[in-house]
Amino acid sequence: MSMPVYSIECNKCDYGVTNMLLWGHSVYADEQGEFPCNKTYGWCNECQAIRAIEDFSDVSYQIEQIQMRTDWLSEHNSSIWHRIFSAMGPWKARRTQAYLDEIDKQMKTIALAHKRIGSEVCLACSSKVIQDLKLIDGVLQTRSNKSPMNASINFIHPNCGGEFIVHDKEMRFSIRHKKKTYRPDGDFLKEEYYE
Ligand SMILES: [Zn+2]
Ligand SMILES: [Zn+2]
Repeated sequence: MSMPVYSIECNKCDYGVTNMLLWGHSVYADEQGEFPCNKTYGWCNECQAIRAIEDFSDVSYQIEQIQMRTDWLSEHNSSIWHRIFSAMGPWKARRTQAYLDEIDKQMKTIALAHKRIGSEVCLACSSKVIQDLKLIDGVLQTRSNKSPMNASINFIHPNCGGEFIVHDKEMRFSIRHKKKTYRPDGDFLKEEYYE
């Protein structure tokens, strides 16, 4: 799969990043296993850079994922006990279990967001001295394909005074799937490529 590339560049100095910094899969890991890590763009004062930061402000993706699966489950299992006692087909039992596991993971992300909102960290250095630049997501989602993009995100480059502008790069890159794993407090654990 190839995806369009955008740059977020300062209009005064030569500092800039691309939206590729948010590409790839991020998860938290605890003793029970992995669950999704929501991230967005942010300014990290420690890194003095635009980085991927934790995002606890929006769990709508989680709610959507749970809704999709609970709809299927309520349609196919008249009660939760039904799944335990009934002799349903093996694929149905497998899917039921997989959906319950997935709901459990998404619920953990919601619970973590609820617990840690306001203590988001930079996903590169774990610093809490960050500023949310979620507006970049908004600019990219509402872009029009007709005219070249030249959108301000209303953020002044600290210690520079320039303004950050989002531009089209007019190129696409294939994603090599990379997964980054963090502890539930946001500390980096490991990164790996996967197929
Ligand atoms: Zn600058
Ligand atoms: Zn940082």
